[in-house]
Amino acid sequence: MEELKKLICISCPQGCTLEVTVEGKTVLKVDGESCKQGIEYAEQEITDPRRMIASTVQVKNGYHPLVPVYTKMPIPKNTIKNVLKELRKVELTAPVALGTVVIKNVLGTGIDVITSRDMPTRTAEQDHFLK
Ligand code: SF4
Repeated sequence: MEELKKLICISCPQGCTLEVTVEGKTVLKVDGESCKQGIEYAEQEITDPRRMIASTVQVKNGYHPLVPVYTKMPIPKNTIKNVLKELRKVELTAPVALGTVVIKNVLGTGIDVITSRDMPTRTAEQDHFLK
């Protein structure tokens, strides 16, 4: 049975409202797009929705206690909750370099989670104030 779905294209800041006619997981028609990326987005969103994840993981002896991380590619939307759970289990040890692989092939998605900045070790001065 045909169904009309409304989506907001998130491929660029314009955020076009797409009207997508689908039958099951098959896209029959896309309206409202301002460029062909909107059609590609609608097809991806209906057949295999994915998102980039940005989060943080703990760093032992780090200048800051957390370092930001992100997925190198968008991951399947239905794995997001479990990927975040896996990230909560990770504890790196400073110093940590930018681009360090935190989890390789996270949950068998074929996608790595990596750090988006470096994290030096805690300074002696910080240690003094923590005592
Ligand atoms: S359809 Fe094209 S112009 Fe519109 S939000 Fe998507 S990428 Fe941007």
